[in-house]
Amino acid sequence: MSRDLRRVGDLEPATIAESVRVFGTPQYLYDGRAIAEQCRKVLGMPHAYEFVARYAMKANSSRAIVQTITRSGLAIDASTLNEVRRALAAGVPPRGIMLTSQDVPEGDDRRDVEAWMKEGLTYTACSLRQLELSAEFSVQARVGIALRVNPGAGTGESVTRNTGDNYSSFGVHMTNLGRVVEVARERGVAIDQVHVHIGSGGEPERWCENIDRMLSIVDGYFPQATTVNLGGGFKVARMPDEKAADVEALGSYARQRFQEFAARTGRQLAMAVEPGTFIVANSGHLVTQVIDKKSSGSGGFEFLVLDGGMESNTRPLLYGARHPFYVVSREGNLLSSEFDPELSRFGARVVVGRCCESGDSQTLDRSGHVTPRSMADPAVGDIVVVGGAGAYGASMSLGNYNSHVQAPEVLLDQDGRLRLIRRRQQLAQVTANEIGLD
Ligand SMILES: *Cc1c(COP(=O)(O)O)cnc(C)c1O
Repeated sequence: MSRDLRRVGDLEPATIAESVRVFGTPQYLYDGRAIAEQCRKVLGMPHAYEFVARYAMKANSSRAIVQTITRSGLAIDASTLNEVRRALAAGVPPRGIMLTSQDVPEGDDRRDVEAWMKEGLTYTACSLRQLELSAEFSVQARVGIALRVNPGAGTGESVTRNTGDNYSSFGVHMTNLGRVVEVARERGVAIDQVHVHIGSGGEPERWCENIDRMLSIVDGYFPQATTVNLGGGFKVARMPDEKAADVEALGSYARQRFQEFAARTGRQLAMAVEPGTFIVANSGHLVTQVIDKKSSGSGGFEFLVLDGGMESNTRPLLYGARHPFYVVSREGNLLSSEFDPELSRFGARVVVGRCCESGDSQTLDRSGHVTPRSMADPAVGDIVVVGGAGAYGASMSLGNYNSHVQAPEVLLDQDGRLRLIRRRQQLAQVTANEIGLD
């Protein structure tokens, strides 16, 4: 991907500085046009028959973000009941939502799920127990159920994000599918959709294998299935040396396979996909200010202390994930960009946050060591932007560690206006549920 070297992602550096002036730091800043563009790419994927694209809202569950995406034409993939509730609050109807969860809802929660199913929510059973618990309702209400398969093969940028192999507990493992079919037949449940999600950041070859495997599973076990849901995990390029998934090519491959399947079996299967990362990752930035600078002597490091770190973007600490850095003067001039081919002319720096935790660095490698990165030398008060932070940034933040408050979220909307979409948390909200001894 070629990037405009004068910009921060697709944003003007002056826009960043303005957002800092108005909303302070740290803040998450999202680019609504970039989000809409990713939605268009996914909706434009080639497909053979019916096609549904669902946004995996755990990647970023903020109401205005969910609305931006659903108004662009995507449906919702929810991973918990509370995500469903947040999607409903964002104005998404139950028929626009699929729930695929490790959770086993009981009591009031189960009644909620059943009420939503009656209104069209698609429920995915992710275990035999979930299937058994939903069977009676599904038959009575005459609503089909989706089944999540654990294909015994997965992919992901790191072991902890691989969701489809033997290490993974997601879905019903391949070896138990026979039992699933038996239970469904005994109870009269129609399994009308087969779902898989093999993990985040997968290589295209694995995604193609995934399609072939899913089609053969549908052929072998699920004669009533009308939809194959291929999950998410489309790779994005956060860093200059990474390559994004070519969704056009993945779609073309899928289209051909679905057509061949139809020619062979007479079944024209609908296709569903569920990207999260791909929709929001590169449209979001963690915007911070330099609050201090230190060095650890000769043979040590040059440190930039930022007012946002692991509590706001946990990915470097969790996965050794790399994010691009942009240094912007407080006046709004770009001082360095990760995408500058001559970046190495700048000094090497380590970026740390304010938490009392040696892992609070945005420049960690996969074994958790701090690794200096080239960037301009900002002054205290200048801005450092951590790019690629729109997915699993705010939604996976460590919130209140060290009693920091959650950073606000700002959206540059599609009309080019900066809008606060989540206020900065107040300390009183952090402590609101505490009960003291006095
Ligand atoms: C997390 C998740 C996704 C999205 O994964 P990305 O890597 O963010 O695209 C899709 N489907 C399911 C079931 C998930 O749990």
